[in-house]
Amino acid sequence: MHFTVFGNPISHSLSPQIHVAFAKQHHLDIRYTRSLTSPGQFRRAVRDFFYSGGAGANVTVPFKEQAYQLVTHLSERAAIAGAVNTLVPLGYGQLLGDNTDGIGLLHDLRHNLKENLTGRQIVIVGAGGAARGAVYPLLQAGAEHITIANRTVQKAQDLSALFADNRVSACGLSELKVVKGALVINATSASLSGASLALSAAQLSQASSAYDMMYSEQPTAFMQQATAAGVQAVYDGLGMLVEQAAVAFRLWHNVVELDTQAVIRQLRGG
Ligand code: NDP
Repeated sequence: MHFTVFGNPISHSLSPQIHVAFAKQHHLDIRYTRSLTSPGQFRRAVRDFFYSGGAGANVTVPFKEQAYQLVTHLSERAAIAGAVNTLVPLGYGQLLGDNTDGIGLLHDLRHNLKENLTGRQIVIVGAGGAARGAVYPLLQAGAEHITIANRTVQKAQDLSALFADNRVSACGLSELKVVKGALVINATSASLSGASLALSAAQLSQASSAYDMMYSEQPTAFMQQATAAGVQAVYDGLGMLVEQAAVAFRLWHNVVELDTQAVIRQLRGG
């Protein structure tokens, strides 16, 4: 069974390691490759992969919106997220697009990190695809209020308007007020370039937890910012990456039991 992940760049993707580790847990023999493609070639690359018998694929930056456009069927959560990160072949050239990022974040926060989300004030910094995919699952998990704060305020307002829910509001970074005990999630791509967010220590200091969706071997710029501001619990996005992969793996292989924490430990070298 051949699986792949489409992206650009893609050489650092941990998806092959994660899926092979899950496959070992079920004694399944799979091949999981990385596929580097370009926006102009993406559609053809996906078609060729499935015509040649591909059993499933993940999609990462910058193709999640393109994948959303090309599938023939969408899961509810992919439709709400406006982006697809998981492709499931349905036969006869039909493809189901799902989005497992938001639910992956939720599983990591709740089950691995034991963060209480019910009645919680949550700030999502960023208004791109990752932020969009996170809002609905966090609302469903019982968040009391979600503030979407973005560098470009209009994008935060547009995203907030999509949900038409008085538990969701939008603002710019300088206006952001973090209430005591809030969870602040960095869903920007700033950490990818090592950039800090234009948030002051005073703004961040009220948060009790800070989560960066990005993962790197060293603490990200946002994690360093949060730690310096005195935030007690500071996390990276490795758990989210493993949990979103687990949801895709369950879809493709029709299994339920997966030891995600063992895979997270393995990737951390433990
Ligand atoms: P997008 O390109 O769609 O969105 C980028 C967002 O980052 C925008 O809101 C943009 O603001 C903001 N931004 C970029 N640079 C800065 C900066 N220097 N200061 C403030 N804001 C900035 O990216 P995605 O939403 O797809 O991905 C965001 C992050 O989430 C990435 O780091 C990605 O790796 C991570 N991610 C992690 C996953 C995991 O499994 N752990 C899964 C999915 C994503 P503006 O609108 O003003 O340009």
